[in-house]
Amino acid sequence: MTATIIVKPNREKPVRNQHPWIFSGAIAEVRDNPAPGEIVTVLSHKGDFLARGYWNPKSQIQVRILTWQDEPIDEDWWRRMLKRAIALRRELYISPDEPPTNAYRLINAENDFLPGLIVDRYSDWLVLQALTLHIDQQKHQIAQLLVEVCAEYDLEIKGIYERSDVDVRGKEGLQQETGLLLGDVPPELIWVGDLARVMIPVDIRRGHKTGGYLDQARNRWLFFDLFSMSREFDVLNLFSYTGGFGLFAAAFGGRRIINVDSSREALELAEQAMLNIFDPADEDEMKSSEYIQADVFEYLRDAVAEGQQFDIVVCDPPKFAHSAGQVDKAARGYKDLNLNAFKLIKSGGYLMTFSCSGAISRDLFQKIVFGALADSGRQAQIIRHLGASDDHPIALTFPEGEYLKGLLLRVY
Ligand code: SAH
Repeated sequence: MTATIIVKPNREKPVRNQHPWIFSGAIAEVRDNPAPGEIVTVLSHKGDFLARGYWNPKSQIQVRILTWQDEPIDEDWWRRMLKRAIALRRELYISPDEPPTNAYRLINAENDFLPGLIVDRYSDWLVLQALTLHIDQQKHQIAQLLVEVCAEYDLEIKGIYERSDVDVRGKEGLQQETGLLLGDVPPELIWVGDLARVMIPVDIRRGHKTGGYLDQARNRWLFFDLFSMSREFDVLNLFSYTGGFGLFAAAFGGRRIINVDSSREALELAEQAMLNIFDPADEDEMKSSEYIQADVFEYLRDAVAEGQQFDIVVCDPPKFAHSAGQVDKAARGYKDLNLNAFKLIKSGGYLMTFSCSGAISRDLFQKIVFGALADSGRQAQIIRHLGASDDHPIALTFPEGEYLKGLLLRVY
């Protein structure tokens, strides 16, 4: 028998509607003294079964729901849930229209109905992030099951590395942790085929997040999908990280590609990747790419002052708003970036612009970009609304899961 949580009558609705979080303020009573991290059964005020999840009194989100069925959370349950998530990716990436990729998100936490657990695949290695106490307690068993379930889908995993070095763990009373969970230590660099022949370098141990930004894979592919073979482009890749968009641009029609990022290590990898794709002996090809370590805000002001012009500008900044309280400041940041980006685009050129702040809705982001456009005196059309790749599904009952939004605009 598990311990029991009773939800306040006026706070039952979100639980019944399958929102996975129960905040401390929604709880009327905690019975049978659950230990932190333990599985609990959630009951209505009248004693009806509502859900089962895990408990952490240290967190504002005291319960995260794992199931809305009256079923045990045991190894068999875990195996079924992991299979469901992995089956989706195996289906998504066995498409006849696209070259296969060996890097994608296998488990997308709440959005795969597995709160607190992120697992990314980079070739033969998996990277696991445990964001909550229960997942942290279970991570070794989960790692073992992952290897077994992956094997059933013909995915032979050589090792699983933990990258739980994220601030949100503090809210669960956890320290940050990294290290090998299982199998072999991953190599310094893993080259992943990111939906096309372009190979992107990933440093699992020291890279950002789990090593790379898999959520942008489909949008990088758009360079091929939309722009290849139409004409040559001068591309400004702002917040380039290890080259992502710039590498695709170079492979599919880029003439001059400028990558700007504050991270020296990321830019070095971007350059290494470029040498991997093109023949270093061909001076024309290699001369066409630049790697500039700079603050993008400052870089843009200078580039506008110098009257630089590009065919395509990509703007993929880090998260500016970490909470609702930071939305106004973040909005000013996004507006500043997009205003200057508009000024740098040739008539008939494109802007691909993003926000990965969960606190900024798709509507608000579009309004901010509209404000920037109005101030720039330019005209623009929306060619496409952009979001994260398909391997980052969003649970329909969990709107918080939709953090990445973007616009592809044609600018005049
Ligand atoms: N577009 C990339 C991911 C970008 S992530 C891809 O497709 O892989 C955001 C990047 O912005 C990180 O690499 C980080 O180093 C960089 N960054 C953060 N703040 C910055 C700033 N003010 N100026 C320049 N780069 C910055």
